[in-house]
Amino acid sequence: MTGRSTDPFDDYTDLRDRGPVAPGRPPLPVIYRRRRWAAVGVLVIVAITLMVLVRALTGADAGSDDAAPAADNGSATTASSEGPLPGEPTTSSVGDLPAGATVTEQGKGTWQGVGSTGAVAGDPDVAGTRTVSYVVEVEQGLDTSSFGGGDAFAAMVDATLADPRSWISGVDDGGIAFRHVSVSDDVTPDLRVRLTSPVTTRQLCGGEIETETSCFLSSGDTSGSAGDGWVLINAARWVRGALTFAGDIGSYRQYVLNHEIGHGIGYASHQPCPSDGGLAPIMMQQTLSLTNRDLVDLDAGAEYAADDADTLAATCRANPWPHPQGGTGR
Ligand SMILES: [Zn+2]
Repeated sequence: MTGRSTDPFDDYTDLRDRGPVAPGRPPLPVIYRRRRWAAVGVLVIVAITLMVLVRALTGADAGSDDAAPAADNGSATTASSEGPLPGEPTTSSVGDLPAGATVTEQGKGTWQGVGSTGAVAGDPDVAGTRTVSYVVEVEQGLDTSSFGGGDAFAAMVDATLADPRSWISGVDDGGIAFRHVSVSDDVTPDLRVRLTSPVTTRQLCGGEIETETSCFLSSGDTSGSAGDGWVLINAARWVRGALTFAGDIGSYRQYVLNHEIGHGIGYASHQPCPSDGGLAPIMMQQTLSLTNRDLVDLDAGAEYAADDADTLAATCRANPWPHPQGGTGR
């Protein structure tokens, strides 16, 4: 186990040093024009247009693709958009968000509980088993109609955790179980699994991320205790998945839940693809790539570097499960 990376592509992020985040929106562009200045304004616009055309034709603005993103979005006040999400490139490359249904760009920064409480995954009564309590929440303001509503999200969380291929089959630490508790219960849940808009996720997970990712936040220690852990599932990924899962949105959703919850129960480190053609480890950043070399190129973490060329070039198959072979008797 290594310490957590500070790399922007690392989707395991600690909130402790960040302080409160106040989701904000860019101010509305407000333009006042006196009528007598209208003619002047038209001339200015024509002049600017000509300048832009000249720059485009001469390549004078080459390299400006990396410019600040704030300059290109004049519709930030809409709750949702069918256009590119913030940070979404226009051409497809490693780690990109696939095209797909509309996603609310920014919610309210507050969450409400969804689903039915009481579900239990694994067997908390087995001696030595650690039981992790969790709630499932959806950010307010997030349009959930494209994936069946918040309760469908919660049902997917419950079902994924209860699957015999999930974390409940691990026996290394004496076994683990999960219990879906009520937000109103007089108990602080170990994990809050929160479906969250892309902008809010970006604000909480880190502003340097160059594609849509999810993350786990902990205000606790670094030993793996879940503490007040927030499992932030990026709604853009929940709706559109990842190129690596080739349209299999169900498997991607299982993956992203298992991966981020894996961080939440103490698996801090990422893991590389062990051999070409094998199943990807659940703690590999499969959202970004299934190839070690790609993740090295993305500076995703030292875990993916390898001394031998074959391992570096290894490409795994997408895998949503911590224990893909199923249960181990628990
Ligand atoms: Zn991760």
